[in-house]
Amino acid sequence: MRKIIVQKFGGTSVADTDKIKNVARTVIKEKENGNDVVVVVSAMGHTTDYLVKMAKDLSPNPSGREMDMLLSTGEGVSIALLAMAIQAQGYSAVSFNAMQIGIMTENVHSKARIVDIKTEKLRKNLNEGKIIVVAGFQGVTEDGEITTLGRGGSDTSAVALAAALNAERCDIYTDVEGVYTTDPRVVPNASRLDKVSYEEMLELAHAGANVLHPRSVETAKQFGVPMRVRSSFKLDNLGTLILGVEKMEIYKPVTGVAADSSQARIVVCDVPDKPGVAAKLFTKLASENISVDMIIQSYARKVSNTNDIAFTIDMADLSKTVSALENLKSEIGLTGDIQINDNIAKVSIVGAGMIDRPGVASTMFETLGQQGINIRMISTSEIKISCLVDKDDAQKAVKALHEVFELSCDETADVKGDLPDV
Ligand code: ASP
Ligand code: MG
Repeated sequence: MRKIIVQKFGGTSVADTDKIKNVARTVIKEKENGNDVVVVVSAMGHTTDYLVKMAKDLSPNPSGREMDMLLSTGEGVSIALLAMAIQAQGYSAVSFNAMQIGIMTENVHSKARIVDIKTEKLRKNLNEGKIIVVAGFQGVTEDGEITTLGRGGSDTSAVALAAALNAERCDIYTDVEGVYTTDPRVVPNASRLDKVSYEEMLELAHAGANVLHPRSVETAKQFGVPMRVRSSFKLDNLGTLILGVEKMEIYKPVTGVAADSSQARIVVCDVPDKPGVAAKLFTKLASENISVDMIIQSYARKVSNTNDIAFTIDMADLSKTVSALENLKSEIGLTGDIQINDNIAKVSIVGAGMIDRPGVASTMFETLGQQGINIRMISTSEIKISCLVDKDDAQKAVKALHEVFELSCDETADVKGDLPDV
């Protein structure tokens, strides 16, 4: 049986018609290799941002349904243009939107999850020898309503299609050459990783390495779809392969360093120290759809029988969080201050190699200490250690950690790509 390769091209790769022609050539090359090809594309360039801006000009709070109607149009343009470009080069191609295929999602606007993908139409067209071009980012509910998967969601569309079709691999073509040990704009001799595990990639993505939509990696892990992140412009570079940790040989304790300055820290002071209080606090935040990242509860003070609870949230949820806490005050008897600090960054080291290897955390703390960087909060998972530091210290911390864990290479990375801010 022929192998199926799913390819995904992001907005910068299809930003104008010359770039679309270039994508068509890359797609055709894969077809010429003897594979069946399904291509997923995002909206051209900054189209989605532009659509969001127009909506905001008209309404401070546009309805979720109309936002999805609007944003899904961006991908509609790029699929038709790419199919035409492929046809113009003499190959047979057909474009489909999510409704036509049946990319079924939950009934939620602006961040729906895919629940099922119908494959009949895809298989039929592949069997006819066609290259299929699919609109990323969008889905449809059982009632025929259009949904979107959240910003950056085309990566997830591509991986979900690869899983549904039992594809050989899902190649994510982008404007960077792969996944790096850290942001090359901060550390110019950051190394490109040849391989990284799903688990590490997920931690890196959540820690601020915005190369991929985190849900795409979760989906790839769940269904065992190998992913490759590579440059659309430098095709001789194979980029970074993302696969199960069991398929990797691990030499170093740390694989990557990431920083995320999009969070704020909240300290709720003098919380009564009795059962059920933390539950009430975090249930309230969850009910408002606010996700919490790091959490620390201090020891109870003997005299007042209270403790302090500190946690971090997304900066975007700050005002929602503060009003939720204000509402809770009387309910759980909060009398103390609520302190807010949005001048912080979370710096994380990630690596499957730190499992069962003592001394990694102490090296991290010692390194930050030597740099005179104060650690405000710490959290750990099996393969990640994160420290909350002042925002101004974040880059210094990343550089020092990258150095101490020996992640640099001799070459200087090409940093023209659209990497995240640190
Ligand atoms: N066009 C959408 C966005 O800009 C989806 C994507 O690019 O993955 O977020
Ligand atoms: Mg993207």
